[in-house]
Order: sequence, then C-alpha cells, then structure tokens
Amino acid sequence: METYNTDVLICGSGIAGLVMSKSLINLGLDVICLEKYNPQQKIKKEDDLRSTALLNPTVDFFNNLNFFKELTKHAQPMNSLIICNLNKKTNTIEASCEFFANELGMKTLGYNVPNKDIINTLKKILKTEKKFKFLNGDYVKYITQRSDVIISKTQEKKQIIAKLLIAADGRNSEIRDQIDINKIKYDYNQSALVFNIRHEYNHQCKSYEIYKSEGPCTLVPLKTKVENGFYSSVVLMLKNYEKNKELLKNQQLLSNFITNRTGKILGHCIVKSSINVFPIMSQASTVLASKRVILLAETAHVMPPIGAQGLNTSILDIRELTSLIEKTININNDIGNNQLLREYEKLRKKQIILKMLSVHFLNKLSISNKKLASDVRKFGLNFLNQNMSTKKIIMNFGMYQ
Ligand SMILES: Cc1cc2nc3c(=O)[nH]c(=O)nc-3n(C[C@H](O)[C@H](O)[C@H](O)COP(=O)(O)OP(=O)(O)OC[C@H]3O[C@@H](n4cnc5c(N)ncnc54)[C@H](O)[C@@H]3O)c2cc1C
Repeated sequence: METYNTDVLICGSGIAGLVMSKSLINLGLDVICLEKYNPQQKIKKEDDLRSTALLNPTVDFFNNLNFFKELTKHAQPMNSLIICNLNKKTNTIEASCEFFANELGMKTLGYNVPNKDIINTLKKILKTEKKFKFLNGDYVKYITQRSDVIISKTQEKKQIIAKLLIAADGRNSEIRDQIDINKIKYDYNQSALVFNIRHEYNHQCKSYEIYKSEGPCTLVPLKTKVENGFYSSVVLMLKNYEKNKELLKNQQLLSNFITNRTGKILGHCIVKSSINVFPIMSQASTVLASKRVILLAETAHVMPPIGAQGLNTSILDIRELTSLIEKTININNDIGNNQLLREYEKLRKKQIILKMLSVHFLNKLSISNKKLASDVRKFGLNFLNQNMSTKKIIMNFGMYQ
C-alpha cells in the first residue's frame, strides 16, 4: 500500500476544497486534495453552467490569497441588486427596491464569475505549488481517527496520514456518513433551472431577484464583449418542475417564458446555453467537527440560491478556519487539536444557523402563491425603500454575517 504523509487531507475539489487548499498552502502547510471523480467523469456528470456572485468579503479574501487578479478576465462587476415583485396577472413589476453598493460606501457589491472559471483558475495555480498534491479518481473508504493523526485508506489502496482531514465533498458527503455525523434536511419540492440568456437591454452591472410565486427568478450579469451583446446568467426557481418539463425541451418557449417572467426588465431574452437543473433544499450537519475532522461548505450547510449566500457563507468558514490554523501554527501547536475544532464549531455554528433560517424564511415567502404573501413582499419592498437604516442592516447582514 502506497503511503502519504501530509499536514492536511482535503476531500473534494469543488470551489470550497480548492480555496481551502490554496489558503493552507499559503500558510506553508502540505496539502493533499482527494477528488472522487476524474475530469472525464466530472464533465459527463455535470457541465456546471452556474456562476457565483462573489460578494466583496469573498473578493477581499481571494485577493489576500493572491489569486483574484487571475479571475478578473472572467469577472463581471455588480453595482447593485434590485429585488422586485411581479404582478401575477399582468406580469409587470409592481414593487422594487434597489440595493446600491455605494450605500455601503463601496464601488461594487462584488463580481459574478462562472464556476468553471473559478475552478480551472484555482487548479492551474495549485498545480504549480510544491506543497500541493492532487489525487483524483479516488476516495476514502476507511477512516481511523487517532489522538495523534487521522489515517485514511482509499479505494485505490492508498494510505494518507494527516494531522487534519477537511471534508469538502459536498452535500452528499461520504466522509460525514463515515464518521457518523447526522444531517437535518428540508426539501422544498422546488427546482432551480440554470442557463444563460442574451437580452435586449444593457444590464448596467445590475443583478435582479424577481419574486412571483414558486420562488425567485435571479438574473446576474455576465462579462461579455460589447459586440457580442448583453448576457446574464439565470437561476429560475420552479415549484412543479415536472409540470414545466416542456419548457426545457423548447428553447423558443423558454425564451418567451423568461422574457415574461422577468417582466421584460431587460427586454426580450434569448436562451443561449443548455440548462442545468438543481434540486432546492436546506440541509445542515448536526455538528461541524469531530476528532481531527472539520466539515466545510456544502458538506456542512446547503441553502436555497437566494441573495448569493451559499458559497459566500462557505468562504466565511474557510476564512475562520484559516485564521484558527494560523494562530495554532504560530504557537507551534498541533493543527488537529481538540480546542481548535471546538473553536471552529463555536464560531461558525450560530452564524450558519442564522443565515440558513433567514434564507429559509425568504424562500418560503417567495414560494407562496397566496395574495397575502405577495402583499407582504410588496409591503416589505416599499418599507425598505423608505427606511434606509433597515436597508443597510439587511445589506450588511447579507454581505458580512
Ligand atoms: C443554482 C445555484 C446557484 C448558486 N448561486 C450562488 C451564488 O451566486 N453565490 C453563492 O455564494 N453561492 C451560490 N450557490 C451555491 C454554490 O454554488 C455552492 O455553495 C458551491 O458550488 C458548493 O461548493 P462545494 O465546494 O461546497 O461543493 P461541491 O461543488 O459539490 O464540491 C464537492 C466536490 O467533492 C467531490 N466529491 C464528492 N464525493 C466525494 C468523495 N467521497 N471524496 C472526494 N471527493 C468527493 C465532488 O465531485 C465535488 O468536486 C448556488 C447554488 C445553486 C444550486
């Protein structure tokens, strides 16, 4: 059996696993990242069309890690977010509130970057790091959590001895199951359709979240050359996806649907990509750490894609964990020690629960097709328009908590 010794083993090479790797490499640690699928299997499994609205604290963190400048050629700035309520009968915008970056004293709220560009850029950078090893097409089958190290044995008969194992293997985490950590799951019976559109009007660096019933429809601007027209990525949440399956088969039908569903806010829309479908859920692991193991990102928490909170919350996990590990290294302590694990749990748990509950209630409010829910949405948006201090509290919560 081939044996590897490392400081940290990270399972999963999604955005969270790769950012965590870069962050620990920068601290001078040896990192092995293990990915279950090889690139060919991954492309077949999901050609991810998603883009991520990276909010400013995430951008700052990526800058500190020294790789945001590599992303700028793919990054579209977002100067404001407009939340609207659509009239069910007329398909026109009946209330809206615009959250401007400059209301928080900032130039932008953040940048929208396609997920595949974030992943490819990180992989390219990590490839050049001597302290990084990437093993793909393999996964952990047995874990032994000892007091001094954690030993993982993989399907391909490798043995990895580490001080700390970080599980970033996503919402269906096998690591979480292997160490007997439970999860709580809420299924909204809702799906998100993800695709890209070209639209008639300039997006002017604005994002839109348009509420009707069944969930919001989100438009996030994409970077394109002027001569190619204006593009945005769409996340369309639908309650009865099965009933709407026809939409997926006919691009013309979906183009007309999305033009109306967005209240023609960006004019006529044309679907310009294939379509990904994601089930919508809230899911939380009951604990975030176990002996020499940390749960990170979607392994620890999954939430509906509202207000760009998912990955941005994961980056806060990474930032907090990096800072705890850095402090531990500085006092020559063991990076898998119990106190560090407990601190991480304490620092992140309350914040994650608060974030998940806020997104959950917002999503419930967005799904309801009752007139009362629509009135509450309208009232809420009008209220925010007139109450700058409440608006700022909400913006700060979405941005920093
Ligand atoms: C429609 C939609 C839109 C979104 N938009 C935004 C947004 O604008 N802003 C935002 O902040 N968030 C957004 N999110 C959330 C964000 O996309 C996710 O939080 C993020 O992609 C999850 O990254 P991850 O690395 O935690 O997990 P994943 O991307 O799932 O990565 C897990 C990795 O682990 C691998 N793996 C699986 N099992 C194993 C195993 N046993 N061993 C080793 N590897 C394994 C997988 O192959 C994968 O590579 C959105 C989500 C959705 C569904």
